[in-house]
Amino acid sequence: MTKVIAVLNHKGGVGKTTTTVNLAAALQQKKKRVLAIDMDGQANLTESCGLSIEEERTVYGAMKGEYPLPLVGLSGGLTIVPSCLDLSAAESELINEPGRELILKGLIAKLPESRKFDYVLIDCPPSLGLLTLNALTAADYLIIPVQAQFLAMRGMTKIMNVIATVRERLNPGLAIGGIVITQFDRRKTLNKSVAELVKDSFCDKVFKTVIRDNVALAEAPIKGKNIFEYNKGCKGAEDYMSLAQEVLKLK
Ligand code: ADP
Ligand code: MG
Repeated sequence: MTKVIAVLNHKGGVGKTTTTVNLAAALQQKKKRVLAIDMDGQANLTESCGLSIEEERTVYGAMKGEYPLPLVGLSGGLTIVPSCLDLSAAESELINEPGRELILKGLIAKLPESRKFDYVLIDCPPSLGLLTLNALTAADYLIIPVQAQFLAMRGMTKIMNVIATVRERLNPGLAIGGIVITQFDRRKTLNKSVAELVKDSFCDKVFKTVIRDNVALAEAPIKGKNIFEYNKGCKGAEDYMSLAQEVLKLK
């Protein structure tokens, strides 16, 4: 059975794209077949993987019903559905479409039998609009990256409310896989107190793995590489491998 995981937080810069790419790569290292879908009109995941933001076929055309999800195989073994800058327009273009929140779920269900994946990871945009709702409706689990910074918790109530509504109306099976603390620097007292606050507030919903601040994680996408291709011995690679181990155990 394919497990669909949406990586969500309407705040930008919290580590959604970094988590999607490197968790996908870590699961692939664990011999899983993994697809990563770029649902963000900034197309950061697409570019992080070394693809152009001007790919001919993208998730945008697929969402508009022009063709199935376009799968691009990367040399390292991951498969990507690229995005493009036009994707943001889909939010308003699809507004009158019946069942507009269900489009992505339908596209994933229609992947051919020969292209079945163990994991489908969806990189969400920094909003709670229609594209994110599509990801939440398609997902079995959510992973919520939270940056170990001041005001990290602001906005969590909003996310939890949206999850509750999606469960009620669109996707009763949606589970919180976990909150993951990112860009953590143990030398900073503030980082430590934010991490403690997140753990106190969400207890068993927080992954044990904490993603440390690691410059290699910021450098790898510039080279179009994931962390295992860029520097498999670094802290970032170690942390995402440890997160993958926890994700493998999700029931
Ligand atoms: P989002 O997708 O939520 O907007 P990104 O994954 O793009 O966030 O991360 C924001 C920025 O922080 C990027 O430049 C990324 O390379 C950097 N970054 C993310 N996680 C880490 C980390 N653990 N250590 C260092 N830099 C990171
Ligand atoms: Mg992003």
